[in-house]
Amino acid sequence: MLKLDFHPAGRHFLQIPGPSPVPDRILRAMSYPTIDHRGPEFGVLGLKVLDGIKKIFKTQQPVVIYPASGTGAWEAALTNTLSPGDTVLMYETGHFATLWKQMAERLGLKPEFLGLPGIEGWRRGVQADMIEKRLREDSQHAIKAVCVVHNETSTGVTSDIAAVRRAIDAAGHPALLLVDTISGLASADYRHDEWGVDVTVSGSQKGLMLPPGISFNAVSAKALAASEHAKLPCSFWGWAEIIEMNKSGYWPYTPNTNLLYGLSEALDMLQDEGLDNVFARHRRLGEACRRAVHAWGLEIQCADPAVYSPVLTGVMMPDGVDADAVRKIIYERFDLSLGTGLGKVKGRMFRIGHLGDCNDLTLLAALAGCEMGLRIANVPLKDSGLPAAMEYLAAQPNVVSLKAA
Ligand SMILES: *Cc1c(COP(=O)(O)O)cnc(C)c1O
Repeated sequence: MLKLDFHPAGRHFLQIPGPSPVPDRILRAMSYPTIDHRGPEFGVLGLKVLDGIKKIFKTQQPVVIYPASGTGAWEAALTNTLSPGDTVLMYETGHFATLWKQMAERLGLKPEFLGLPGIEGWRRGVQADMIEKRLREDSQHAIKAVCVVHNETSTGVTSDIAAVRRAIDAAGHPALLLVDTISGLASADYRHDEWGVDVTVSGSQKGLMLPPGISFNAVSAKALAASEHAKLPCSFWGWAEIIEMNKSGYWPYTPNTNLLYGLSEALDMLQDEGLDNVFARHRRLGEACRRAVHAWGLEIQCADPAVYSPVLTGVMMPDGVDADAVRKIIYERFDLSLGTGLGKVKGRMFRIGHLGDCNDLTLLAALAGCEMGLRIANVPLKDSGLPAAMEYLAAQPNVVSLKAA
């Protein structure tokens, strides 16, 4: 029996692609006393985080913060903008895209699921040309929204959102563009305004380095206009009342005060490092991780190098190897948690998260744990992966080094 208060020596390696490890600095900020959410100090905190989070989404438009997991913010994006029976074009990149589609069905929408056949779609990014073609056929504009996942966390693929915007514009179609970047935000470059996204959905427990529990909708003027006529039942998630109260830094209900302290701290940390440096750090760790996987002679789930995710790497197992059995060994022997294969790739691959509060030695330790576990599980490896990762990291200093600081 696992006891909840059992604490093995050293730190646990939480290398799943979210929740990501929460830095001590954020945990400490979260331990401040909970204050009156209608009192004078709260407005200062509210205004700070509501303004600061806009810089992370790269938007001048409102960002709504919900006391909910990312799934809640998915629902908010759909129910604020759409009406029962509306057709939505959703692109199948993996398990999370599939779950969002299931939600659309349950809400009474008519999702059309577009994608490459079989497992191929789970190895590549959004094919914008397929979206453009489908929208051109829709001359009556029955399709009300296009929904895509920016960073597909189940596979390790980061799609080109600007290309999806161009596809919608090329087709001259008025559909809204709704994007899930729950695991991409603050790890991979993201530009809500520049890419013409109408609703961007995100969450706290991935690149933002917070515990789970808050999530976001960044909202365009076009989405706000759509929300005035949308007929899906929408009460708790309704933008209008929240955005109105947010003007003075407050919420219509009790917000997640202590997570907002954490968000305030995370925003300071991201700003101190510099967003571009944060993205460069993630790209570099992703590259080091992939070099190790290549050296092992194992395949990467993402089959298109142009869309490799800087957030996580999906590692495919040779035929006949149960990826979850390998994960179990790695967890039990080395106190290292890796992401399981989800949906269509269950048991076929595991996922190494390299997002959020992650640095060179964190990644190398995780790779060492993986390599030892793979050997214990008798998975045939071409070579050791660690030297490949170490050589790359040593030759490519991080943009922000302690010396420079
Ligand atoms: C984590 C994740 C979700 C689900 O978010 P929850 O916080 O678990 O509700 C949805 N989409 C993507 C891409 C994710 O990574």
